[in-house]
Amino acid sequence: SRPVKLSVQLYGYGEGRKLLLARDVTALEQAEAMRRDFVANVSHEIRTPLTVLAGFVETLQNLPLEADERRRYLDLMAQQAERMQHLVEDLLTLSRLEGSPLPSNNDWMLVSQLLKRCENEARGLSTALTRKQARPHVLNFPDAQVLAEAGEIAGASAELHSAFSNLLANAMRYTPAGGQIDVSWQKLEDGSARFSVRDSGPGIDPKYVSRLTERFYRVDRSRSRDTGGTGLGLAIVKHVLQRHGAKLSIDSELGKGSEFAVTFPASRVRPGQSGEAVARP
Ligand code: ADP
Repeated sequence: SRPVKLSVQLYGYGEGRKLLLARDVTALEQAEAMRRDFVANVSHEIRTPLTVLAGFVETLQNLPLEADERRRYLDLMAQQAERMQHLVEDLLTLSRLEGSPLPSNNDWMLVSQLLKRCENEARGLSTALTRKQARPHVLNFPDAQVLAEAGEIAGASAELHSAFSNLLANAMRYTPAGGQIDVSWQKLEDGSARFSVRDSGPGIDPKYVSRLTERFYRVDRSRSRDTGGTGLGLAIVKHVLQRHGAKLSIDSELGKGSEFAVTFPASRVRPGQSGEAVARP
C-alpha cells in the first residue's frame, strides 16, 4: 500500500452545516515532482559542458598557446558544443513525440529499406569508432532472403528509423572493440513481427533494466558520458514504440551481453508485393 496525499477543505454552509472535501492529489504531486526532477536534470546536463566550455575559453584568452595546442583546445570545445547540440535535439524530439498523436494515415514502408538504411549507418558508425578502437565490431544484419520476405510495416518512418538506430548505436557504443552485434527481423506465428539487436557487450544488471527507459537514467554515468550519450535515447525509443503499439523487451545478462527487441502488432505488418522488397545493395 502506497501513501496517499489528500488535500482537505472544510466548507461551512447553511445553519451550522459543514462540508468536508477531500481530494486525492497523489498523482498531481507526483507529476509535479517529476517535472521538477526533469528541469533539474536538464539544467545539470547543460551546465556541465557549458562549464567545461567556459574553462577552455578562459584558457585561450589568458594563455599564450602554440598553434597546435590552440587547435587541441578548439577541438575539445567543439566536442562540448556538440554534446549540448545532441542534448537539445533529443529534448526537442521527446517533446515533439509527447505533444503530438501519431498521424492516423500511417505510411507503409518496406522493412528492407528501413533495415538497409540502419545497416549503412551502423557500418559508418563502426568505421568512426574503429578510428579510436583497435578492432571493429562484427556486425551481422539480416540477409537478402530475410529482407525480401520481411514485407512492410506501418508507421512514421522517421520515428521508427530513429528508434532502431538508437538501439543499434547503444549496442555499438557499449560493446567493446571486436564485440559482436546481431540484428534480426522475424515474423512470428500470430502475424506480428520482431526486430532485435543483440550485443556481446557488458550486459546490464537485472535490477536496473526496468529503469533504462526513464529520461536521463544511466547505469554508469561516467561511462555513458564517455560514449557520448545524452541519457535520452531509450526514453525516445519507448515513446516511439508506444505510439506504434509496439513493445520493447530487454533481455540482458551481466558479462554476457544484451538483447533489445521490439515486437510490432500484426495490424502494422503486411507481406510486401513480391519482387519489390528485394534488398538493394
Ligand atoms: P545513454 O545516452 O546514456 O546511452 P540511453 O537512454 O540510450 O542513454 O541508455 C540508458 C542507459 O542504458 C545507458 O546509460 C546504459 O547504462 C544502458 N544501456 C543502453 N544500451 C545498452 C547496451 N546495449 N549495453 C549495455 N548497457 C546499455
